[in-house]
Amino acid sequence: QFPFGRRLPCDIYWHGVSFHDNDIFSGQVNKFPGMTEMVRKITLSRAVRTMQDLFPLEYNFYPRSWILPEEFPLFVAEVRMMKDSDPSWKPTFIVKPDGGCQGDGIYLIKDPSDIRLTGSIQSRPAVVQEYICKPLLVDKLKFDIRLYVLLKSLEPLEIYIAKDGLSRFCTEPYQEPTLKNLHQVFMHLTNYSLNIHSGNFIHSDNVNTGSKRTFSSILCRLSSRGADVKKLWSDIISLVIKTIIALTPELKVYYQSDIPAGKPGPTCFQILGFDILLMKNLKPMLLEVNANPSMRIEHEQELSPGVFENVPSPVDEEVKVAVIRDTLRLVDPQKKKRKDIQQHIESSKNKVNIRYNYFMCYRCQTLEHVSEANEELLDAGPADRPEYDTTKSPEAGLPSLCLKQVFPKYAKQFNYLRLVDRVAALFIRFLGVKGTTKLGPTGFRTFIRNCKLSNSNFSMASVDILYIDITRRWNSMGIDHKESGMCLQAFVEAFFCLAQKKYKSLPLHEQVASLIHFCEYHLAALDEKRLVCGRV
Ligand code: ADP
Repeated sequence: QFPFGRRLPCDIYWHGVSFHDNDIFSGQVNKFPGMTEMVRKITLSRAVRTMQDLFPLEYNFYPRSWILPEEFPLFVAEVRMMKDSDPSWKPTFIVKPDGGCQGDGIYLIKDPSDIRLTGSIQSRPAVVQEYICKPLLVDKLKFDIRLYVLLKSLEPLEIYIAKDGLSRFCTEPYQEPTLKNLHQVFMHLTNYSLNIHSGNFIHSDNVNTGSKRTFSSILCRLSSRGADVKKLWSDIISLVIKTIIALTPELKVYYQSDIPAGKPGPTCFQILGFDILLMKNLKPMLLEVNANPSMRIEHEQELSPGVFENVPSPVDEEVKVAVIRDTLRLVDPQKKKRKDIQQHIESSKNKVNIRYNYFMCYRCQTLEHVSEANEELLDAGPADRPEYDTTKSPEAGLPSLCLKQVFPKYAKQFNYLRLVDRVAALFIRFLGVKGTTKLGPTGFRTFIRNCKLSNSNFSMASVDILYIDITRRWNSMGIDHKESGMCLQAFVEAFFCLAQKKYKSLPLHEQVASLIHFCEYHLAALDEKRLVCGRV
């Protein structure tokens, strides 16, 4: 631990909260710049909404959301419209303050007029979301799932998902929301930090019972009831990959600003906590992403009034130790050096596979079969193989037991969604000054000129007006006043506008794909021309 900084460079830096050390020039850091900002409730909702605009069916795993206060009138109008078209629709909404955690400040409402827009806490920016009224219940209780996901690299994209997670239970039997029970947090909110204070909270050493259980225990139970757990795993993997695809464009903007290409800097990886709710029909819904998920393997127990003691929590330990262990194995700095040995090991892989199967036996057999079979569903490529570590110590020679690569493994099925990544690449190209995250008016004009987007129907004066209009509106939302100029989301909006103008009759994602192709083509031609001129 270096609470006051350090002198010598390290192989791996494990920061407690966020990426904040500008003096790192090598090694690997366990946080990406900008991740904390990206997974805040408002930013995540915006990023997912951009993807919902492009691919509404693929991104239907996130509840319909509105951003407060700016979208309050839109929220009122849309709810009124939906109620008019379907008078039997009796929705409930959940209001969540931006940047809040552990259920802090969350409340349920039946009508938009119940939103508390006044008062210092209430006027905090927030997300209001359609409340999922029919969650899957186990033992009559609502629960959510915390899954750990390792973002091992942004470029190229590498994602791993932990095979087991935690299920966190409410402590009051669930009833669909009514005006009478809306305030009962132990019935509606699954947060551990809230339910721990309920008299009904059950600490259990057994992974199958209690208020916190392993996700695998739930899957085994569902499987024994005949549920299609293969499909569930496949849907969860899709949800995770699609969510990360929604986050990567802006993460890349943060990344190039903090760690500019061509300068010495560290590489990053990060363990994320995905909170997922299962609906009654087993459809997984994304609740939120945590950039700094708790890795505690103990819980506090009140021995006598006011006297607390930390006691080990076997459920947390089983899930979290495996995640950290496998993460360290995957980012092991010695690993690269051992590539040669790895090739040698390839030949004896069959032997190791037997060992792997042996180690997987302690897990629920059904679950294993289920998740492996499920991979076939998603995977058109070669069969899944565990990650091997090749150090000489017997412990480190074990395959990675819990983290499983899902990207690039399933890249083929998801690459068509990565349009905004390519828009972000155009944005980054025209940012100009290293270290910035916003595009100035000159950069925007150069983008239009170099991509040959201006013509007699779209003059440079109209380009300036587009820039000013969109930039002013995004900056008035008060997201980031540190720099002036056009942020990535504003650029994406401008890009979508240009695409709609140019390719009128196509669906939005085809318009955007066509414009990206058009821009990339002209930029490649320009680069070639410059290269030739340079040579001359
Ligand atoms: P926090 O960061 O404060 O924990 P979450 O978004 O995770 O905020 O919400 C807290 C809890 O509220 C969740 O764990 C879940 O039980 C419940 N919840 C959140 N959003 C919804 C929703 N759209 N529908 C149903 N329950 C929800």
